[in-house]
Amino acid sequence: MRAVACQNGNLDVIDLDTPKPGKGQVLLDVTGCGICGSDLHARHHADAQADVLAEAGYADFGRSHEQVVYGHEFCGTIADYGTDTARTLKTGTPVVALPLIRKDNGMHAIGLSASAPGAYAEQVLVEQAFMMPLPNGLSPDVGVLTEPMAIGHHAVNRAEITKKDAAIVIGCGPVGLAVICMLKARGIEMIVASDFSPGRRGLAMACGASIVIDPSTDSPYDVLGDRGYSMSIAASAAGGLKVMKGLQKLPVPWHVVLRGLGVLGVTAPKRPTIFECVGVPGIIDGIISAAPLNSRVVVAGVCMEPDQFRPVMAINKEIDLRFVVGYSPLEFRDTLHMLADGKIDATPLVTGTGGLDGVSNAFEALADPEQHAKIIVDPRSTASAPTE
Ligand SMILES: [Zn+2]
Repeated sequence: MRAVACQNGNLDVIDLDTPKPGKGQVLLDVTGCGICGSDLHARHHADAQADVLAEAGYADFGRSHEQVVYGHEFCGTIADYGTDTARTLKTGTPVVALPLIRKDNGMHAIGLSASAPGAYAEQVLVEQAFMMPLPNGLSPDVGVLTEPMAIGHHAVNRAEITKKDAAIVIGCGPVGLAVICMLKARGIEMIVASDFSPGRRGLAMACGASIVIDPSTDSPYDVLGDRGYSMSIAASAAGGLKVMKGLQKLPVPWHVVLRGLGVLGVTAPKRPTIFECVGVPGIIDGIISAAPLNSRVVVAGVCMEPDQFRPVMAINKEIDLRFVVGYSPLEFRDTLHMLADGKIDATPLVTGTGGLDGVSNAFEALADPEQHAKIIVDPRSTASAPTE
């Protein structure tokens, strides 16, 4: 079969043997596969990432000298079953799957390891236990977005955001756009999106942002207006003194009143939830410096380099910093059904499609945020450049 492999930074169309599904596995004919930002990064910086992942307990992330077939955001149809499979779905059924597979040498990330070729290929192997059919006649063109949208779903779950909270999304690449779609679906009324690119700001509006701003001229915190956030430590202390003076005029002991208000949630700090979806050095420090006190910062942007931030800034402002990655099988399933039920419209993300011969050109095109956000590789296409 034809596939695109990356080795020493070069993307080449190669010929591979037809993969054989092992025990509990299924072979899919790929109908589409999204190009992910992590693929773009792995092309030139695989070794640094492989070192970090080895330290975290995964030793087989693809290294630059290895031949790695990328592609972990895929949709396909069932072509063949391995042993020990239920075979309840007929050959030809369109499916998606979590990009994880067991090989003789352990579990692997499909499309990010030399041991588990991905879906920049005519066929890909998946685990039946991680495979899900497309529900309600969902088009494979939309189903292919399940994986990147599940990233957004998980980030929003981890944020524990409520409808009355304001959300700020910093960076409107595919991760930021997925987060915006998911916030919108959850009924968040105030979604501020920030990106330097006018094209990306347009996509953010199409995904459901309430306000978009250009961070070179505006602050995402200013446009929120007065929502009761604390913007300075001194103002916060002055507010505390005012409350204490007021409470001590009451006939009931102040601590009894304060404890009661705490139980009712009245004293909980008001905070925006900020989604960091850029992943470049300095961005975390920039956010914790500019954000209101008590802000919750959810870091979904994958900064691949060592970065610095000032803990004393985060401490004094009591910033709630959370890091997020991936999704659970349930989040993946729920995202698939949200797409199928029309609860999210992820189609603005897709800005182009190309064939295996066009992967190299597609990687170049994705470098320009004005041109593209998400390009889908369709192994059946002969297009050597991304078409809209
Ligand atoms: Zn991805």
